[in-house]
Amino acid sequence: MSTCIFCDIVEGKIPSEIAHEDHLAVAFHDVSPKAPTHVLVVPREHLEDLDAAQPGHESLLGHLILVAKEIATKEGLADGYRVVVNCGSDGGQTVDHLHVHLLGGRPLSWPPG
Ligand code: AMP
Repeated sequence: MSTCIFCDIVEGKIPSEIAHEDHLAVAFHDVSPKAPTHVLVVPREHLEDLDAAQPGHESLLGHLILVAKEIATKEGLADGYRVVVNCGSDGGQTVDHLHVHLLGGRPLSWPPG
């Protein structure tokens, strides 16, 4: 039994509102959205965080960002959006499976807290 909630979502063991699926990544709507559009793009491969990424993961990392962009287009985020990767406790990461946040649908303030 997996102890990773995002691995369980990737494997379909936990229900989620899927926004995109392909051979490398799965994207689903955040259960606690921080913006009108809040989608998480995760690799099928379990990587704990961005720190766990190595040379060789370049195309996977690029793919996650491109998937986020494609979902932003599908969601009609013509006025812009934000793509965020939280890493580690200071970065605010709470789920230990690398994920890219896509946030949009309202003006987002900067800098983040
Ligand atoms: P982070 O704080 O960067 O690790 O982001 C983790 C995100 O996962 C948070 O925005 C949570 O709301 C979201 N989350 C946690 N559990 C689930 C779930 N079962 N389905 C969808 N999103 C989730």
